[in-house]
Amino acid sequence: MNPGVPDFDTVNQPALTITSMTRDINPFESLQEQIDDAAAHVDAGDDVIERLKNPERVLEMNLTFERDDGTLETVRAYRSQFNGDRGPYKGGIRYHPAVSRDEVKALSGWMVYKCAVVDIPYGGGKGGIVIDPTEYSETELERVTRAFATELRPLIGEDRDIPAPDVNTGQREMNWIKDTYETLENTTAPGVITGKALDSGGSEGRVEATGRSTALAARETFDWIGDSIEGKTVAVQGYGNAGSVAAYLLEDLGADVVAVSDSSCGIYDSEGLDATAVKEHKARTGSVAGYGDVDVLTNEELLTLDVDLLVPAALENAVDGDLAAEVRADVIAEAANGPLTPRADEVLADRDVWVVPDIFANSGGVTVSYFEWVQNRQRFHWTEERVNEELERLITDAFGGIVDAYETHDLPNLRTAAYVVAIERVADAYEQGGNWP
Ligand code: NAD
Repeated sequence: MNPGVPDFDTVNQPALTITSMTRDINPFESLQEQIDDAAAHVDAGDDVIERLKNPERVLEMNLTFERDDGTLETVRAYRSQFNGDRGPYKGGIRYHPAVSRDEVKALSGWMVYKCAVVDIPYGGGKGGIVIDPTEYSETELERVTRAFATELRPLIGEDRDIPAPDVNTGQREMNWIKDTYETLENTTAPGVITGKALDSGGSEGRVEATGRSTALAARETFDWIGDSIEGKTVAVQGYGNAGSVAAYLLEDLGADVVAVSDSSCGIYDSEGLDATAVKEHKARTGSVAGYGDVDVLTNEELLTLDVDLLVPAALENAVDGDLAAEVRADVIAEAANGPLTPRADEVLADRDVWVVPDIFANSGGVTVSYFEWVQNRQRFHWTEERVNEELERLITDAFGGIVDAYETHDLPNLRTAAYVVAIERVADAYEQGGNWP
């Protein structure tokens, strides 16, 4: 066993409960702090920066839908449209009991700067329903999704606001939203939503895109610091869409994925897991628990493992300042949105840990969503090869821009550098348009 790893229980014992993430840190305040950190290095007035720290509008909805037993249930939902200076609002839809107004506001703001850092012509939005989807049948989820789409209909549109998948939503929900919108509008508008199934107008490579950009971002970072991703050990927190794909693509790049987790538990094998086999096991059983002859980890043990690369791919605030002091990875590539608190950033920068920021590392999802939207508008279908090539080009170009800002402005970390690039682009677009009305 790796000497840096505590003596964990073996897997066939009951899975350990993962301690919940630090949810008391308000993600919207984290976003605003990140913008403030970068604003000092951006050529834009305080009045413009103030505008860029707050959403343009947030819609709060109460959705009433029918349960399978005929009773009615009402749940809260939100859509935040943060900024549209560079194009239509764009961002995912999350189904989770912890969805809140401030979480949606933060996530919509991160989308603005994510789209700007990879230079795609979108603003940022985000939505969510306060619901635990595991407690509902598929027909109930369809009804609540169609209720949500009906409420969203006046707000969204191919040139207005384009939702996409996020935590606990995927192709199925996107197909329902597209169908509801098209039926109510009596039109064909596949570009109203992205992340659809291929036969409903989806793009090749979309499902893998977030994990792919995370893996590419990690590769670029190791190259930039004069090292290589090859042979590096990796721990992935959150083995859903983003995390599991990042894991097997990192393996393809020559890294060794030694630990992964989901909300049931973490698993560890110093010899390296088989990321694809773990993904298949989770698809079959619903969790990573019970996979093969491995050790079981708690959430905290996984995040502080002695690995070269840590990939947080679950939810916000996974690592706070205290935990950051215990992290032993050299590089952290944020597949999730907002997994590190601002205090964690400070501690990690002091400890010379490279953090590849979410607005860049996980931007593959929205980038291939953009490709999907372009294909929808053109009524044309790209090959998977073309999608992946274009994605790699945008990711490597964006990394060049971030590194350039980091070196030119002598910035404390890559996150601030990414925000400097992004805020300059949004501020320029706003100032070129002028303040009207
Ligand atoms: P998902 O629902 O497919 O996966 C989330 C995973 O995290 C699940 O396996 C869940 O069990 C796990 N998880 C939840 N709580 C956990 C905990 N406390 N410890 C360990 N694991 C936990 O969601 P996803 O689409 O992969 O999204 C994950 C993150 O990536 C989110 O922050 C999301 O905003 C971000 N993201 C997703 C996309 C995308 O295209 N799907 C794009 C950009 C960013």
